[in-house]
This record gives sequence, structure tokens and C-alpha cells, in this order.
Amino acid sequence: MLVTTKKLLITARAKKYAVPAFNVNNLEFLKAVMAAAEKMKSPIIVQTSEGAIEYAGIEYLSAMIRVAASGKVPVAMHLDHGKDLKYVKMALANSYSSVMIDGSSLPYSKNVAITKQVVKMARAKKVSVEAEIGALAGIEDFVTVEERDAKLTDPDEAAKFARETGCDSLAIAIGTSHGAFKFKGNSHLDIDRLKKIAKLVKKPLVLHGASGVREDLKQLAEKHGAELGKARGVLDKDIKAAIRNGVAKVNIDTDLRLAFTAGIRKATDEKPKVIDPRKLMRPATDLITEVAVRKMKLFGSAGRI
Ligand SMILES: [Zn+2]
Repeated sequence: MLVTTKKLLITARAKKYAVPAFNVNNLEFLKAVMAAAEKMKSPIIVQTSEGAIEYAGIEYLSAMIRVAASGKVPVAMHLDHGKDLKYVKMALANSYSSVMIDGSSLPYSKNVAITKQVVKMARAKKVSVEAEIGALAGIEDFVTVEERDAKLTDPDEAAKFARETGCDSLAIAIGTSHGAFKFKGNSHLDIDRLKKIAKLVKKPLVLHGASGVREDLKQLAEKHGAELGKARGVLDKDIKAAIRNGVAKVNIDTDLRLAFTAGIRKATDEKPKVIDPRKLMRPATDLITEVAVRKMKLFGSAGRI
């Protein structure tokens, strides 16, 4: 059934697990993550970025996700990183049950203003709103402690922001970053900062840029021609610590892309005579399902429906 993220995430935070939020751009990714949710009896958030909407078209995406949500698994249909109000309006007009407004790159007062505006628009349709405060970047990206403190989420400011905007969940910056190249040195999240935020903000917290960049999948992709260099992600133990301390939604995009890339490269490499795209994509989508299953186990969302 189609549900809001608010409904999923309040329960998750209270019970100290996190609901996985998977980015999808097409039918293959959607079916692959839904297969995992059905197998693991896990609630799921299916999210599309502005880029996904530009790629596939919002009508196609929302129609497919509505079908995915027509079964027993609770599915939230979420707009990831809405920066332009145009996309928020499109999502609200296309049955999304949840939207993110990302004003994190704006000055504080402008972030509050745009988030409040979206909350008002979304409330009228009983749609949940995720907002963001703080800038995403790996901790090692900062040269000084002052620089780091200026970018990562400030606990007091987060509390004030959550109160003033009335958002339903809050994405915070505690040292993760988007993409496959997250860390120069050892992966490390600022869990002390998270604890302080969680003490002041009782709403569900959201972790972006949280892919693990699995070494075996990286090696499989590289064996078949990919060049991924020093790509590395967040350690599983850090994800677990974040979930124990208030994170109720964890976004995963890069890990699905990596699985697909590894699978499709292997298939085209090993089956040079095959031109049936279904046969080439099958192993790739199976790998996505396997990655999603592992996330559900790691996040503790398995068996929650
Ligand atoms: Zn993000």
C-alpha cells in the first residue's frame, strides 16, 4: 500500500531501525528493490531525484511506483532532493506521498522560508516533507575543525529549524557525502554530533550519501573493465551506530548503481553472443536485489511488516 514517509519513519525511529530509501530511474531498479522488500517483509521508500524525473518522466515513474505499491508491502513514493519548487509541484500532482525540499545550500532564513512554503503545500494533500540542514561532505574534506563545524549540522540550529518549519523528517550532515568517493582516509561519521542533534530533534533523522561501496562489487566491476579508482563508502558499523542514535531513513543510490554496473559488465563480457537485453540485465537486477536485501538486514527493517 502507498503510505507516507511520516508514517513509516516515526515507527522506525521509535523502534530504532531505519527504512531504506532506494533511488530508482527505471523499471529494472524498481522491480529489483521491490523483490527485496517482498522477500524481507520490509517497508520501503522508493525515491526519484530531479534527474530521474528528467530521465524517465514523472508520469512513467509515478505510474510504475503506484503499481509497486498496490501489494502488501508499505511503499512511500518520495521526491529526493527537490531543489526547484517546480519538481515539488509535479510530485504533488502525481500521487507522491512524500517530498524532500532541499534548501541546505541557501542561507538559513531562505531555507526556512522555502521549507515552510513546501510544508504548507504538502499538508493540504497529506504528503510528508523531508527538509535538510547542513552541507554534505566527507569529514576528511575539511582541513580545520572550524571549517568542519561550519559545514556539518549544528544541533541547536537543527532544533530551531525543525521547530520553525514543521517538517516531518530532517536530513542532517554528519560526515557522509554523495557519490562513490566518500572518504580519503578512514570512513568516520560524527556520532557525537548526531547524539546531540537527536537529543534536541525528536523527528526522524535522515542520512544521505550513505552507500557502503562494497569492495567485492567494486572488484567485480573492475574485473570487467570499470575504472573506479579509490571509491569507498560508509562502514556498516557506522551506519548501525547512526541508526541506534536517531537515523530512521537511509538513502541508497550509489550501491545500487555499482551493483548494476558490475552485473551488466559481467554479463556483456561473458555473453558476447547475447543481444537480448533481458538476458543481459537479469544478472544485474539480481545483484541489485541482493544489495537491497543486505541493506534491509543491516538497517533492521527486515520483518517489520
Ligand atoms: Zn542526498
